[in-house]
Amino acid sequence: MSKNSTIHSNKHLLSTLLYCENSLKRRKRKAYVRKDGTSNQLGYEWACAINDMYGVNRCEHRNMVIKDNMIDKIKEMILKLKNTDMKCLLEIYLSIYHSYDISEERVNTIKKQELELDDTVDKCFSIYIEGKMHEEQYHRLNEKHKEQLDDIRNELDKIIHYEKKVEEIKQKYKQWICYINEINLDGLTNSKLKKIFSRITIKTCKTKNLKSNNYMKTIFIDYNFIDVSIEKMIKDLDNHDINDKQDIRRLIAKYDNLFALIEL
Ligand SMILES: [Zn+2]
Repeated sequence: MSKNSTIHSNKHLLSTLLYCENSLKRRKRKAYVRKDGTSNQLGYEWACAINDMYGVNRCEHRNMVIKDNMIDKIKEMILKLKNTDMKCLLEIYLSIYHSYDISEERVNTIKKQELELDDTVDKCFSIYIEGKMHEEQYHRLNEKHKEQLDDIRNELDKIIHYEKKVEEIKQKYKQWICYINEINLDGLTNSKLKKIFSRITIKTCKTKNLKSNNYMKTIFIDYNFIDVSIEKMIKDLDNHDINDKQDIRRLIAKYDNLFALIEL
């Protein structure tokens, strides 16, 4: 491969992956320029587009990163991911998205609800036919009942196909692990990176040493897992009615190292 084509294929490597913490606007790529105005051999930088356009009032920090440094960090992260045992993440995923009560009792309760609702639908129809209900009201009720029936049948479906679904997810998980393990760090592309990373956020925070008044740039990485981002998974855990939340949180804590802020 000629030098030019390498550069070209590399050009969009970080497109739509990097974000600034405050504005969450996509960062843009431009030639990195030294203070003396030269830009030779320094490659490209990404900086907050909002800060660039509107200044500190709209976004306090430029959050600039030099592209090549960023790529090095990303490679480190992928290596870390390759060395991480993700079995517990699968457990977490299943607990959040696929833990149903699949007991016979539950099935019977749902089937009873289904029969009752079917009965209600029939009754409504009779009343309507007898002319004791306005057409508009009938249609409104009928729509509502149909939605309820759909919900009930979906729930029943989930229970009936539970084992199959879990098997499917385990299969997807295996494929995911293979994908991560087989990633070649010298052959990264934008689409490969997007499959692994949901979002890479650059944050600027004050250092602990308050006297020096220095700022520190850090990276927060949100990884994908199977078909969801891990940050989304944690949000769903908070928002949904899920049993054993504490246990799941303890499992998530095992991955603290993966989500620690990385100093730039
Ligand atoms: Zn910004």
